[in-house]
Amino acid sequence: MKVIVSKFGGSSVKDAAAMRRCAEIVKSNESIGVVILSATHNTTNQLERMAHLAMDKKCDESIELLYAIKERHYQIAKELDADNCAYKLIDEILLEGESLIRGIYLLKEISDRAMDRLYSIGERMSSALFAGVLKNYLGREVVLVDARRIIKTNSDFNNAIPILSKIKERVGEYIVPHLKKNTVVVTQGFIGSNIEGATTTLGREGSDFSAALVAEALEAKEIQIWTDVAGIFSTDPRITADAFKFDQLQYDEASNMAHLGAKVLYPETLAPASRKDIPVYVGSSINPELDGTWIRSDIGTLPVLRAVAKTDDHILMTVTDNVGRPHRRFHKVLLDVLDRNNISYESFFGTTGGATILFAEKYQLSSDLIADIEREFSIVDQALVSRVSIIGNDLEREAGIISKIMSHLNEGGTNIFRFNGGSRFLSFYVSTDSAEDLLKKLHFIVISN
Ligand code: ADP
Ligand code: ASP
Ligand code: MG
Repeated sequence: MKVIVSKFGGSSVKDAAAMRRCAEIVKSNESIGVVILSATHNTTNQLERMAHLAMDKKCDESIELLYAIKERHYQIAKELDADNCAYKLIDEILLEGESLIRGIYLLKEISDRAMDRLYSIGERMSSALFAGVLKNYLGREVVLVDARRIIKTNSDFNNAIPILSKIKERVGEYIVPHLKKNTVVVTQGFIGSNIEGATTTLGREGSDFSAALVAEALEAKEIQIWTDVAGIFSTDPRITADAFKFDQLQYDEASNMAHLGAKVLYPETLAPASRKDIPVYVGSSINPELDGTWIRSDIGTLPVLRAVAKTDDHILMTVTDNVGRPHRRFHKVLLDVLDRNNISYESFFGTTGGATILFAEKYQLSSDLIADIEREFSIVDQALVSRVSIIGNDLEREAGIISKIMSHLNEGGTNIFRFNGGSRFLSFYVSTDSAEDLLKKLHFIVISN
């Protein structure tokens, strides 16, 4: 029994009209067996804000925000005539949220573990609501299954790593029996639980990954990612109107794009899909009739240049040695400091007597880490930078392509702090004010190549 796993992102379920469109999509395709929901638009950010308000002794303000979330869900439930069970579940989840907020307020601490429990409220409310809507909408049975029973993970709260063998077992136990009866299973993205049953999350934006994990365990026939754009574009269509949509991409191409900043897909999504060779369709829930993008293993000849993407908020730090160690020894000691602080840096550029480290995100640069580095080394420079990348295939295949890219950059006088790359991408680290401009220049090279 081969089914489709369909995932709806936050903006796809932001209000009654949006949710009705998603219900229509599910209704229109009998093969959809599992529906994975994100929290409604902005709810996850609001849950983070609520935790911080509670820490700042603004418990009442935090709880008011929680009730505003409940009201938003109630409003949709009313407009779409959800069944009573949805209201009851929303109320129960709300009470749990309230006690979590009071706990954070009393302890004046938000542990990653508590935050994951609080995060889970968003997905649990939206899925309870959507299941309640679908029950009155489809001619098929609908069941709500708690993803924490299925997506088993390790205990790295906020960024948990899934345990594939357990997920396979749980999918067999909690999803397959429903599918055999042609019942539609609605469940949450993003959330899971560790072996003791404590709630975990897969990382922000992780619902796409949840869909792929369930699809892998089911050996599904297709994964659908329904979002607010019509597919995957050559770059973020919000940055330039020149961005064009792809009919198809190969797994590695889409994966490189996602890792280098194309927010439309969570970076890990394509690994489970490609392991089982499951095609992934990315389409617009706003205009589902538009053709979206198919991601598959084999799509024929791949172009040398494909797309452009950008990420912000990296820290580039240059460090020198205080005691003149041989440079290999120096690099090893510095890498040990990073390891001790559990830092997975993005890139490490070693030079004689010095090194430049690129941190993936600025929050990694804690005062403890700086103190630890400064015990042995001197920090001579530190800058907030953006990374702009051009993504392609076998870049070395086309003679002169790299110098062509470089000469275009030279013409505009973009100040590049560092660059790195391989045969499938080149990344340039630049000041954040010049990043969009550089992205447009690189995009022009993609269009005109
Ligand atoms: P969802 O809530 O459905 O998960 P996201 O906000 O995570 O949606 O992803 C969709 C957004 O990704 C789009 O609104 C778009 O601005 C952004 N995006 C960035 N790069 C790309 C790209 N290359 N193609 C399409 N969308 C992109
Ligand atoms: N709701 C979560 C977030 O906003 C996960 C997701 O939407 O993919 O990060
Ligand atoms: Mg997303």
